[in-house]
Amino acid sequence: MKTWKFDALLQNNTWITPAFVSVDNNGVIKSIDSQHQGEFHTIKGIALPGYQNAHSHAFQYAMAGTAEHLPKGALTDDFWSWREAMYNLALNVTPENVRAIATMLYSEMLRHGYTSVTEFHYVHHDTNGEPYTNLAEMGTQLITAAKEVGIKITLVPIFYQMGDFGKPASKRQRRFLSKTVEDYLALYEKSQEACKSYCGANIGAGIHSLRAVCDKDIISMLSQIPKNIPRHIHVSEQQKEVDSCIAYFGQRPVEWLLNNTDINENYHLVHATHLNSQEISGICKSKAQVVLCPSTEGNLGDGLFSLRDFWKQGGRWSIGTDSHIGLNPMEELRILDYGQRLHWQKRNILCNKEGEDSGELAFKESIISGRKAMGNDVKDFFAIGQPLDAVIIDSSHPLIAPTSKERLLSTIIYSCDVSAIFATMVNGNLISENSLQKCKVDFFKTIKELKNR
Ligand SMILES: [Zn+2]
Repeated sequence: MKTWKFDALLQNNTWITPAFVSVDNNGVIKSIDSQHQGEFHTIKGIALPGYQNAHSHAFQYAMAGTAEHLPKGALTDDFWSWREAMYNLALNVTPENVRAIATMLYSEMLRHGYTSVTEFHYVHHDTNGEPYTNLAEMGTQLITAAKEVGIKITLVPIFYQMGDFGKPASKRQRRFLSKTVEDYLALYEKSQEACKSYCGANIGAGIHSLRAVCDKDIISMLSQIPKNIPRHIHVSEQQKEVDSCIAYFGQRPVEWLLNNTDINENYHLVHATHLNSQEISGICKSKAQVVLCPSTEGNLGDGLFSLRDFWKQGGRWSIGTDSHIGLNPMEELRILDYGQRLHWQKRNILCNKEGEDSGELAFKESIISGRKAMGNDVKDFFAIGQPLDAVIIDSSHPLIAPTSKERLLSTIIYSCDVSAIFATMVNGNLISENSLQKCKVDFFKTIKELKNR
């Protein structure tokens, strides 16, 4: 048993000040109190539940920041030309490269306060498109990376079959493909097995997008995955994708999902940028959630999600860092909110009642729905019997120190950067800066190798 003392700790509807948290040897919380008899370790910080990163493609971290110029000979740029640059990287990474990139990325996520990540994982096969001896070789590397640095991971092996609506896959997509539902289920099972190597790993299921799998196989695959497993799917990210879907199915992507699947609270619709009002109400009624990736969506010029209308109808949402062009959870929440403020020319668009606080609403929603995206139904912050996973904010920060608890979450989200984070804790263990720095050597070597390949 070990006891930590924090200056304050956030529970769902109250602050405990100070907070003594005792954990057992597995980092499971045994007691929380504002007083304590006996030994304890003091942390000059404020404990908040760890951020949840509900959407990641780890390998893309290797190209973050390198595609911010017009491609050769082009006068404009968009999502689709960025995708070609991303394919160049996807065609070249080895399992060792993926592990080195993911280890660096996950350590950076921890430094930014994320304690869990959902890996939407679709680079499955070798560079010729042949399956590895272990079907889940690449997923295994992601789990190993997560275990090495101590972040929790939900591995979501992705079903990818075609190039576009009704069109075969291109050669450049060869590393992603499962030809049939049976092929996908074999990959899913191997991935599930790989999760057993790390107590912080669990499994999800996913479809890349409506354009990447044929309709009858989407329905068949979804019906064969256990009901309680979270299901992730990219949807309506780009207007072109919506137009192609209408041309092919005569329906918009979310409209098709609502009409053809058992869409429910275990569905996590990633991006959902271009929705009409029927689709917004349909998602809300189905209790499905959306996963928003504001820095990536901004970077790729996707468009703005209709957060205000969705939220007013009780819609649930989490955040993810997707391509990892940004890794700061406070910034993700800010960009999300500011996009709406700029669009509507109003402030505090999340607040529906007098006295409600934007930062508090955004923080709590992104944590609770983020957990759900990872297959974790726990809604309580720091409950007895749950692991002590926390982001610890520096209580001596110039803006944090004098702020009332009532406005603290907004101060953190709207006015702090990563320097306000004192440390991150997973299973009651402090993740130290030193262990985070160790992976740089392998990461630099990998980037160099990929440049020369
Ligand atoms: Zn994505």
